[in-house]
Amino acid sequence: MNFVSTRGNVNKIGFIDTVLMGLANDGGLLVPENIPYIPAEKLEAMSELSYQELAYEIFSYYVDGEIPDAELKALIEKSYATFRHPEVTPVQKVKENMYVLELFHGPTFAFKDIALQFLGNLYSYVSKKTGESIHILGATSGDTGASAIEGVRGKEGIRICILHPHGKVSKVQELQMTTVDDESVLNLAIEGTFDDGQRIIKELFADVEFKNKYHLRAINSINFVRILAQTVYYFYAYYQVKKEKDIKSVNFSVPTGNFGDIFAGYLAKRMGLPVGKLIVATNENNILEGFIHNGLYQPGEFRSTYSPSMDIQVASNFERYLYYLLDENPIAVSELMEKFKSEGKIVVNKELLEQVQSDFAAHGVEGEECLQTISKYYGETSYLLDPHTACGVAAYESCNDPSEVCVTLATAHPAKFNESIERCDIDQTFPKEITQLFDKPQFLEVVEADKDEITRKLEKLFSYSVQ
Ligand SMILES: *Cc1c(COP(=O)(O)O)cnc(C)c1O
Repeated sequence: MNFVSTRGNVNKIGFIDTVLMGLANDGGLLVPENIPYIPAEKLEAMSELSYQELAYEIFSYYVDGEIPDAELKALIEKSYATFRHPEVTPVQKVKENMYVLELFHGPTFAFKDIALQFLGNLYSYVSKKTGESIHILGATSGDTGASAIEGVRGKEGIRICILHPHGKVSKVQELQMTTVDDESVLNLAIEGTFDDGQRIIKELFADVEFKNKYHLRAINSINFVRILAQTVYYFYAYYQVKKEKDIKSVNFSVPTGNFGDIFAGYLAKRMGLPVGKLIVATNENNILEGFIHNGLYQPGEFRSTYSPSMDIQVASNFERYLYYLLDENPIAVSELMEKFKSEGKIVVNKELLEQVQSDFAAHGVEGEECLQTISKYYGETSYLLDPHTACGVAAYESCNDPSEVCVTLATAHPAKFNESIERCDIDQTFPKEITQLFDKPQFLEVVEADKDEITRKLEKLFSYSVQ
């Protein structure tokens, strides 16, 4: 299996090099040269597999022999052994035709663990094979940082620096990231937004000389492995629903920020999974809703909301979708992205918009609507939604045809976002893993959102082993 850049200026590379490259060296994103298609008989044959077995089958198409089978299986086993639920991502029926896919049973109580437990183990595997240090640089709106640190802490040969927006993450998110006392972990709290952090790290990754000198590796969803690991639970959810209901296809409602998780659903669909509509659920940072409704993608003013992990204006993974929308034409993608850079917006014509609308529906959820959804479901079904999942459920209510089955992705545990749950006058019990965090000291440095200052901090963290 070869991987190519959405902008066409990277020579074809294999799976491991794709993981290590992260952002494509031409500034684009890496995608498989051909998306593998799983025929109906094979799909049927996979329906009884455990989560881990399913992950192995799906990963194998992309790893394509670069990791020996037994080792790939061991990496998968190890990655999901840290989850608190035997099914890894169980599906709950909330009411008729409405299901929730619980993705928060990993170590940091958000869906990012599903990909980052695996990516942490994969980096460690590569480092052992090649003897090369792995230096991770990432930006987070809260969950990726905690999850990535948890995925790599204590692993030999790995150092990690995470940028988070100072004061704009939830208390539990901040504690999960900053209570790790380890010289290989650096938390930088930047005076700015997630978009500032993401822009700075994209610039650093685009500086190929700097990237190679310091062995910089990515954990954000610009890394294709994140997307790949997340396709697995779309398959898993489909099989679980099919066990109790005779369905031809399933719709998914997906709380979206960087377009990563929903792109994984799109990829699962292209691989042959019978997915109906993919519903893009956003909060008031609703650029993606605008694009799906009228073909205009234009980041506006940043808003802080009750669902901080989705407070994102520039959705990195959107470029992957554009690539497929434009018939896998890297020249057309490059032109659009150049235009985006100079004019600050992307507009697609009517014909393309029709395609977009046949792939996706969308709903931007206002703050009050998010809180009302939490209260309503807690009152009617005793199911406590976290504010991100609540956006997903509100979008399901607004966009889903009631005769069709819809699975909403529950991307985080409500205990991570008690600030919002308290506003609904709901008193929740915290899992012990979260309660324990409140007594620990925190380790972080507050910095300006300034590329040069951050570069100096990185050089200090990463220079110990680089000649
Ligand atoms: C990261 C995150 C999202 C958004 O996922 P994307 O892949 O960025 O679209 C939604 N909910 C939670 C809880 C998250 O941590």
